[in-house]
Amino acid sequence: MPEVLNDEDIKLLKRVVLRFADSPNVDPDVAEKTVEILLHGEAIDEEIAAEINADPRDVRKVLYRLNENAIATFRKEIRDEYQYPVYSWKLNLKDALRKYIDERRRDLEEVEKMLSNDLNHPVFHCGNEECPRLTFEEAMECEFRCPNCGEMLHEVDVSKERAHLKRVAEEIKTEIEMLERLREKLG
Ligand SMILES: [Zn+2]
Repeated sequence: MPEVLNDEDIKLLKRVVLRFADSPNVDPDVAEKTVEILLHGEAIDEEIAAEINADPRDVRKVLYRLNENAIATFRKEIRDEYQYPVYSWKLNLKDALRKYIDERRRDLEEVEKMLSNDLNHPVFHCGNEECPRLTFEEAMECEFRCPNCGEMLHEVDVSKERAHLKRVAEEIKTEIEMLERLREKLG
């Protein structure tokens, strides 16, 4: 762990790594504690389990999940204090950051696409949740009757949705900037 990293950086890195530990068979509490330890350096799975007072099998589930996502790697070690080979684990923080930034860029693209396509034209809807939204052309084609339920179609006020998505886009941009700065710090 480079010394230039501050508490905020560590917190952010923890969130990034935990994103890749997410799985229905992973205990989130064990995942958080395991990642906290690994953020401070390489560690043996059994020692992590002992330190956080968890079942070693639960710790391994976290580690395997991270390994599947190429965020954690292990090496076999022979240590005097153990009668059998042990596995020492470490995090690939740069890979975790790169993957996470890519993910957030895709999220941003999606939001921007919604803003420039779907929400940039009049939208028509009948008001029933289960029915689709239509463009002006589509609405005209079916004479402003919902093709699904037959109710009248009305133009939807999308100004709030647009405002919300614009905020989301700004938040993601700010997050990506923070992540990029962190990536530079990691070297
Ligand atoms: Zn309808």
